[in-house]
Amino acid sequence: MRIVVLAGGIGGARFLRGLKQAVEGGEITVVGNTGDDIHLFGLKVCPDLDTVMYTLGGGIHEEQGWGRAEESFSVKAELKAYGVGPEWFGLGDKDFATHIVRTQMLAAGYPLSAVTEALCDRWQPGVRLIPMSDDRVETHVLTEVEGERKAVHFQEYWVKHHATVPAFAIIPVGAETAKPAPGVLEAIAEADVILLPPSNPVVSVGTILAVPGIRQALVAARAPVIGLSPIIGGAPVRGMADKVLEAVGVETSASAVAKHYGSDLLDGWLVDGSDAGAVAEVEAAGIPCRAVPLWMTDVDASAAMAREALAFAEAVRGE
Ligand code: GDP
Ligand code: CA
Repeated sequence: MRIVVLAGGIGGARFLRGLKQAVEGGEITVVGNTGDDIHLFGLKVCPDLDTVMYTLGGGIHEEQGWGRAEESFSVKAELKAYGVGPEWFGLGDKDFATHIVRTQMLAAGYPLSAVTEALCDRWQPGVRLIPMSDDRVETHVLTEVEGERKAVHFQEYWVKHHATVPAFAIIPVGAETAKPAPGVLEAIAEADVILLPPSNPVVSVGTILAVPGIRQALVAARAPVIGLSPIIGGAPVRGMADKVLEAVGVETSASAVAKHYGSDLLDGWLVDGSDAGAVAEVEAAGIPCRAVPLWMTDVDASAAMAREALAFAEAVRGE
């Protein structure tokens, strides 16, 4: 079975770990969000791609959900001693090596997709990880900091300001002229099932969908597209999805996110058992919906969610 998953960082990676357990033998292609990418200290950092790669490859800092396990921060401390920032972005020594290799390969002319493949040679994540695009896309947030309205990089909004400053608009800068990376559209066209994991619907999945051609390919795909709600009980499980949903004019609820993706895109939507009351509303919008447990408390729970999504895909395919 060929499965395509559009993934952000932590939520996407945790779901993928469950999916891998649920479908031994399946072929999983992950289209990763690169809108979170940022240049720091002259290095290209791809937080979401690395979170997926480290999580599936066994190198992730488990409790934190991002960065490497057993990490040290000597380089960061040395940079600080030189007065070189930013200090708000935590890059550990082991993690630095990944960004050095990536930046060196990019400078030598390799596209990001080839670089990602090379990095994955080491980590053996057990999935094919493709960036959504080889072209530069950077999510910016229109905000107001100390009375001044300005657009800042998503990482500045999230990591520096912890989403405590207002978000008026989310702009995936560069997306409109970006092309899907080699293999993305082919994987979608050839897939048996396409899954939208509990990733941020605006700054993770939304950014991937903003690359021209990807949404259209999903709508045209013969495979059913099944999404799992990142919103439970009217709130994000973790992160700032509520803030960025508000910025794009979408209510923070499992049903509103489904309608935001749209009935043309979704062939099925899973909401948490506690949101069973939302099923009728989602179905009234033309999207088949089921309520199942959606808390990724451990790998087994994520695997059970993946099995529900695959069974749902089978059911809607048969209709
Ligand atoms: P990313 O969007 O994949 O980069 O990762 P985040 O972890 O930042 O966000 C994931 C999204 O999924 C957030 O909107 C969370 O509310 C949601 N999420 C995180 N953990 C869970 C979970 O256990 N269950 C569900 N249903 N959603 C989750
Ligand atoms: Ca992310």
